[in-house]
Amino acid sequence: MKYVIIGAGVAGYAAIESIRTLDKAGEIIMVSDDPHGYYSRPGLAYYLTGELHDKTLYPRTHEDHKKLNFKLFKGRVTRILRSEHALEIEGKSRLAYDKLLIAVGARALPLEVPGAKLEGVVKLDHLTDAKNILKLTKSSKTAVVVGGGITALELTEGLLARGVHVHYLLRGNRYWSNVLDESESKIVEGRLQAEGVELHYHAKLKEIVGKKNRVLGIRLEDGKTIRCDMVAYAIGVHPSLELTRGAGLALDRGILVDEHLQTNDPDIFAAGDVAQVFDPLSGRAVLDSLWNPARDQGQVAGFNMAGRKTAYLKSPPFNVTRLAGLTTTIIGTVGHGEDNDVIGIARGDSETWRDLPDSIEAQSGFDINHMRLVIGKKTLLGAIVMGDQKLSWPLQKMIAEGADISPIRQKLLMFNAPIADLVADFWVVWRQKVAL
Ligand SMILES: Cc1cc2nc3c(=O)[nH]c(=O)nc-3n(C[C@H](O)[C@H](O)[C@H](O)COP(=O)(O)OP(=O)(O)OC[C@H]3O[C@@H](n4cnc5c(N)ncnc54)[C@H](O)[C@@H]3O)c2cc1C
Repeated sequence: MKYVIIGAGVAGYAAIESIRTLDKAGEIIMVSDDPHGYYSRPGLAYYLTGELHDKTLYPRTHEDHKKLNFKLFKGRVTRILRSEHALEIEGKSRLAYDKLLIAVGARALPLEVPGAKLEGVVKLDHLTDAKNILKLTKSSKTAVVVGGGITALELTEGLLARGVHVHYLLRGNRYWSNVLDESESKIVEGRLQAEGVELHYHAKLKEIVGKKNRVLGIRLEDGKTIRCDMVAYAIGVHPSLELTRGAGLALDRGILVDEHLQTNDPDIFAAGDVAQVFDPLSGRAVLDSLWNPARDQGQVAGFNMAGRKTAYLKSPPFNVTRLAGLTTTIIGTVGHGEDNDVIGIARGDSETWRDLPDSIEAQSGFDINHMRLVIGKKTLLGAIVMGDQKLSWPLQKMIAEGADISPIRQKLLMFNAPIADLVADFWVVWRQKVAL
């Protein structure tokens, strides 16, 4: 059997690991156009701030690669020739497959304003982008950051750590309003200001102005201008579908796959950020754009490619991140408001918020120890934990397992309820009952 994996991300790598547990002899070829191979994309934020060296971004050693016994082919796949069971690489060479996994991930949405191609305009998708940012910060004093989610803050923190003054543009009246509530946005904004970031509310970028191909500044729609040497943007991501368009695979926002990660072609599978996976629990096909689901999907796809029928069971989204230096965990369904950037939301939230059953929120904490629960009729639907993280794992478990919180529901909803204590006490009893 000849397995070909397109993409050297966590999904592709996890697929190889599970194929090898079932098929020791089959030929496995991974094709990737990233010169840096398999590394941690979430780690890029810490590389930018200087907390991680680039050498520590690689989750697997050379020995691990050798044990898996696969060939890594560096190059860009330009076409999938389904009738020939082959791929075209760089428009030239061909590579045949018996079973194919498409794990090409997602990429940053482009900034579509005049001047977006000037030198000094940056995004944070790949290690190459991060290295480019670090190079530019050496000769930059001021940057403008555009975008409303986690990656925009990671860019901000990275630039600050490199001594660059940051102007942060917010389209609305607060930070990440479709996931965070007002008090949470305020916490983040306050911390950013304390770090010296200049926030600009209702700020819509009109154009980037340059000279000799270098960024000189930006102009907002209201006419205001800001001088800067860099513009960093993170306005959402979208699955990389270029390769699959025209191949006759069923597509929606991502590549549509069933719960076995199989496309409408029985020999082609898709996993990770590019896959829109059928979720038997909700009956809908969803995008996740998160590291752990990408790894789990890759693993399941690998088993199915090697002949062991395995279903992928989606867990509620769980994302541990840092917002303006504050550790924040976002679990399950927490969002509000209008959403034009579904994948950006999915990084910290589920796509199911639009179908929320009657839910009520309980809040607790102050400033840096903050917790918000989204409470359904009998279960917890989601949670945001900022600061102290003791309860984030218990909450994840209880949300994922649909723990019946009826015994504490009323108490949680009382004014000024000590929700952290209630959750902690309930967890002790519940985990014994379900024998976790
Ligand atoms: C800055 C940043 C921060 C993040 N932070 C978090 C976080 O805190 N928590 C979290 O859960 N997730 C986070 N994510 C998201 C997470 O990294 C992704 O969900 C995960 O990497 C997806 O893995 P993947 O294998 O599907 O795709 P990717 O990791 O994107 O890998 C895709 C691979 O395919 C290759 N490829 C693409 N097209 C082709 C082609 N035509 N031919 C050959 N090769 C191709 C690419 O070069 C790459 O090697 C972050 C992402 C970024 C960029």
